[in-house]
Amino acid sequence: MILPPGSTLGILGGGQLGRYMALAAQQRGYRVAVLDPDPDAPAHQVAHVRFVAPYDDPDALKDLAGICQAVTTEFENVPASSLAPFAARGVPVRPGAKALAACQDRILEKTLVNGAGIDTAPWRPILADFELPEALKAMGGDAILKTARSGYDGKGQARVRNIEEALAAFARFGGVPCVLEGVVPFLMECSVLVARDVQGRSQSLPVCENMHSHHILDVTVCPARVSDAAARAMRSRAARLAQELDYVGHLAVEFFVLTDQSVVVNELAPRPHNSGHLTIDSCVHSQFEEHVRCVLGWSALPYDLLHPASAMANLLGDLWETGEPAWSSLDEFPEVRLHLYGKRAPRPGRKMGHLTSWGDTPEEAESRVRLARESLLRRS
Ligand code: AMP
Repeated sequence: MILPPGSTLGILGGGQLGRYMALAAQQRGYRVAVLDPDPDAPAHQVAHVRFVAPYDDPDALKDLAGICQAVTTEFENVPASSLAPFAARGVPVRPGAKALAACQDRILEKTLVNGAGIDTAPWRPILADFELPEALKAMGGDAILKTARSGYDGKGQARVRNIEEALAAFARFGGVPCVLEGVVPFLMECSVLVARDVQGRSQSLPVCENMHSHHILDVTVCPARVSDAAARAMRSRAARLAQELDYVGHLAVEFFVLTDQSVVVNELAPRPHNSGHLTIDSCVHSQFEEHVRCVLGWSALPYDLLHPASAMANLLGDLWETGEPAWSSLDEFPEVRLHLYGKRAPRPGRKMGHLTSWGDTPEEAESRVRLARESLLRRS
């Protein structure tokens, strides 16, 4: 059933992803209610109704459930108990609890991916330190220890090359459940963005190529410079995983492409994704439009790139280190668009905004966003 315009969409989480979801829903005449503990959160700045409260505040959750007709989440670590008040009132939670639970825990996630017949890096669950020696040996003595829950952008991860390092990292993480992963010699990191509607139909964007710096996404280029076979393999695996998860909304599946162009899944993000920001200016329907369409009961539509290639460069707080970026220099780049999220406190590593661009080739789009970003460092 399509929820008609005028209905209220609830969003748990008020960061930039929530803000773009809110804007997409509002353009179509929906009302938006946001729950986030930070009164100045980017999505609170644009919401019709604001709940400034922790994500597990029972009163705020009950009140939000009382006014919305569907609810979605902009980050995967929403406690399962926070979803219960919505289920109790019959408010659809999209994506659903099953998808969120799988994406919150690397052990569940990798078990689900492998269970669907899809490769990941070799891995072992680590629930106690005595499991480390054998697991490390199975990974050839060189591996990455990752906490099963709550890790992102390289946090809760440690490269371990011998048993002493593995034991020290496990102790540093507080002995919480972890996975030990083999180090994959990848050529490239990619993501597939897939939208799946309540009818089970899915659409995906051509594969994105992701370049990281200090474990944080730096630049995305679409389409990725991979073989057609690798691109097809990634898109079909992403669609299969969305189906396995009974997913409704927009899902990001991250992959490693290996030197022989074979692909393995790295991780899943049950929401719009940083690498999909280029869809805002370069696609008929952005990832946020697709997400809210599916959540509100509309069908997923083809993303369709408006240009042969597109690129996105993140603007981190580091850019503010020696003062305000030289915004007026962007006037020299008519094919580049500036996006800022309304965050007031720039900190190193904090995502403050991004630039998008497009072109006839991936190289052209990429060089435009990079040159435009460099120009922001020009000081008068
Ligand atoms: P994750 O939080 O799992 O996405 O990991 C952060 C980054 O660490 C990835 O984007 C990769 O650059 C790197 N990484 C993670 N897992 C592996 C692996 N198994 N082999 C090689 N590099 C990895």
